[in-house]
Amino acid sequence: MTGPIHELIELFARFPGIGRRSATRLVFHLLDMNPEFAARLGESLLSFHQRIVRCGVCANMSDSDPCGICTDRGRDKTTICVVENVPDLWAVDAGGTYRGRFHVLHGLLSPLDGIGPDDLHLEQLLERVAAGGVAEVIVATRPSVEGEATALLIRRTLEKTAVKVSRIASGVPHGSELEYADARTLERAFADRRELP
Ligand SMILES: [Zn+2]
Repeated sequence: MTGPIHELIELFARFPGIGRRSATRLVFHLLDMNPEFAARLGESLLSFHQRIVRCGVCANMSDSDPCGICTDRGRDKTTICVVENVPDLWAVDAGGTYRGRFHVLHGLLSPLDGIGPDDLHLEQLLERVAAGGVAEVIVATRPSVEGEATALLIRRTLEKTAVKVSRIASGVPHGSELEYADARTLERAFADRRELP
């Protein structure tokens, strides 16, 4: 089938978790809404990628480089929390327990998916630690095979520095995904972190 309605359904259906049924609902909802909304959505999407930059320090995605977290003077500069992606950074930051800086991997070590050590830009993390002033790197990757392998890789990468490398606790039932963890779960995960040997 063709035409603007089907074209838009096809586009929405490409998002993860949105099948054709949801995409169809969204498109007909959009058709019922004030046309101004569709225009605003279009405008926002048109310049979306141009308005977002990757932070040259921590790889966070925002509208400035360095990002607002890296330039925030109120943060503890002695700790770096390593997260898999930006939503995880937001989750940890919103938890309010951790007030240090971050490093975003944009993935986890996963040879089957073609993600090797060179894809996680750990050189950048090593440089930050080697520059001095960092006492601890807290690895907050998920407790999956890939998350554990990534944590070990980070430990190995930072071996020659004096920095302490720790891993957040994962013994919290069903709390495996940072994005869905509540503030209390996050607080416990950070408080019960253990040092990686
Ligand atoms: Zn940054």
